[in-house]
Amino acid sequence: MIKVAVSACLLGDKVRFDKGHKRDSFVVEELGKYAEFVSFCPENIAFSSPRPSIRMVRTEDNSLRIISNKTAEDLTQVLDEHARAELQKIKSQNIRGLILKSKSPTCGLMSSKVYLENGFADGKDDGVFASMCRAEFGYFPMEEEGRLCDAWLRENFVMQLFAYDDFEEFKEDAKMGKLVEFHKSYKFLLQSKDEKTYRELGQIVGNHEQKSFDEILLEYEALFKMAISQKSSVSKTRNVLEHMSGFIKNFLDSSEKQMLHAQIDDYVAKIVPLVVPLSTLRLYATKYKVSYLLEQKFLDPYPKELALRSEIKSTK
Ligand code: SF4
Repeated sequence: MIKVAVSACLLGDKVRFDKGHKRDSFVVEELGKYAEFVSFCPENIAFSSPRPSIRMVRTEDNSLRIISNKTAEDLTQVLDEHARAELQKIKSQNIRGLILKSKSPTCGLMSSKVYLENGFADGKDDGVFASMCRAEFGYFPMEEEGRLCDAWLRENFVMQLFAYDDFEEFKEDAKMGKLVEFHKSYKFLLQSKDEKTYRELGQIVGNHEQKSFDEILLEYEALFKMAISQKSSVSKTRNVLEHMSGFIKNFLDSSEKQMLHAQIDDYVAKIVPLVVPLSTLRLYATKYKVSYLLEQKFLDPYPKELALRSEIKSTK
C-alpha cells in the first residue's frame, strides 16, 4: 500500500468548521484500494469542530493573515503552529503523495480566496498548510481533489504517485546495474513526460565522468522526480506509441500495421482512449515475445483496475 496524506475532510471525517465533511469518492473508494491514508486537519486541531469559519486576508504590508469571520480575531499564529505540527506528522510517515482539499484557506493549492482588509476579493493563493507543503516537498505528487476531477490531471497524478513510490522502493537497495535496468524500464514513461529530461537521465546513468554511485543516484533522483511531475500530452504520447510500434513492426503484416497505426490516429483524434492502441501493442509484444516492450512501465504504470486510460478525456 502506498502511503498518501489526505485532508481529513476528504476522507469523510467530520472536521470542517460546520462539523461536516467533503468525502471524495475517487480518493476513498478507488485510490483507497491501493493507498493507506494519513489524515491531517490543522484547523480541527487548532480550533476543534464546529468553529467559526476563517478567511485569508492580505494586509497593507502584503502579508497574509488568517482572520475569524465571526470575531475578526487574527488567528494566524495559532493556525500556523498547528499546521507546522501536522506537517511534521505527515513528514514522519514516509508518505509518497499528498491530496489537499481545494478552496480552503488552510489546504487549498492556489485556490484559496484572498481578501483585502476592506473585504474586496484579491485573487487566490495557497492556503497556510498548502504553502508549507509546497515549500517542504518540492517535486512531490501533490494535488487538490477538485483538480483530480479532470481525467487528464487525475491520470498524470496517479502515474506520478506510483512512479514516485517505485523510485523510493528501488532506492532501498539501489545498485548501478539496477539503476540501468530501472532507467530502461522507464524509457517510454519518461518520454511521454519530457523527452529532453529522459536523455539527460540517460547521461547520468552513462556516468562518463566516473562519479561515485551515491552521487549519480542523487542526481538521478532529483531529475527523475522532476520529470515524472511533468504532464503528458497527445503529441508526446503519440511519439511514444509510434516509437513502441517500431519494436514490433518487423513481426507484423501490412494489415496489422495499418490497424495499429489507425488506432494511434484515432487516439490522437480523440475517437478512442489510450487503452486501445496500448492493448494492441501489448498483444503483439506478448505474441512475439518482445520483452523490452513488456517490461516498460508505460504499459502498466499503476493498477489497471483504476482504468484511467479508458477515458478519452484523460488525454490533452
Ligand atoms: S480543508 Fe483542511 S483544514 Fe479544512 S476541514 Fe478539510 S482538512 Fe481540515
